[in-house]
Amino acid sequence: MLSIKNLHASIEGNPILKGINLEVKPGEIHAIMGPNGSGKSTLASVLAGREEYEVTDGEVTFKGKDLLDLNPEDRAREGVFLAFQYPVEIPGVSSTNFLRTAVNQVREYRGQEPLDAVKFLTLMKEKMKLVDIDQKLLSRALNEGFSGGEKKRNEIFQMAMLEPTLSILDETDSGLDIDALKIVADGVNELRTPDNATIVVTHYQRLLNYIVPDVVHVLYKGKIVKSGPKELALELEEKGYDWIKEDAGSTT
Ligand code: ADP
Ligand code: MG
Ligand code: MG
Repeated sequence: MLSIKNLHASIEGNPILKGINLEVKPGEIHAIMGPNGSGKSTLASVLAGREEYEVTDGEVTFKGKDLLDLNPEDRAREGVFLAFQYPVEIPGVSSTNFLRTAVNQVREYRGQEPLDAVKFLTLMKEKMKLVDIDQKLLSRALNEGFSGGEKKRNEIFQMAMLEPTLSILDETDSGLDIDALKIVADGVNELRTPDNATIVVTHYQRLLNYIVPDVVHVLYKGKIVKSGPKELALELEEKGYDWIKEDAGSTT
């Protein structure tokens, strides 16, 4: 589904990603961990197509298409979901209006009929149940004054509505409490199907107590220096990152 080969990227002329290789297949959950500053958010941002980042080498294909060639909107329409890509605060725009537009854009791109108000409401109700979100939250202006947990619930709901093929979640907010992490985890687990995949970027080992990844990758100094099964997250929890740094130092 997603194939990243020798990806190099810079910001303001500073090389950050230095040869990322990653293959994600349908049905899989991949966790990307690593010490602060190793390039995790940069990787997520490059996949999102954020303009500040310059890809200097390598390639990324998504369902056989050159992902780097697509603008962020078309990436979304192709089925890539990036939680943080969506607006943080738009005063006066309720999430419902925002979502109907987004969902119908995706449907149009896929050659599907747009949903009228009634059908959209039916879909919303179904997904609200699935991710356990309250109607009241949705009628508030998008993310305005949302708590960390409410933002997360809203993001997961957006993800449920858009039915992405590949979701990329960058859990950067150090202020998130355990309840907010559980909301993310429950959503990811609930929305998992054999046909979609998720990349969870996190420096919280504890998130992976709730999301069970198929593969854990450790990013360090812009490279994936170690990949392993879910137990790798537990090992990192116990031992920290220093041993990874030593390993990386001796082999690179
Ligand atoms: P992580 O998400 O793993 O903590 P980031 O991808 O946020 O790491 O950052 C990777 C590196 O890129 C860090 O060393 C950071 O200082 C650097 N960086 C981020 N933004 C800029 C920028 N605008 N200019 C220069 N360096 C940057
Ligand atoms: Mg960081
Ligand atoms: Mg980060």
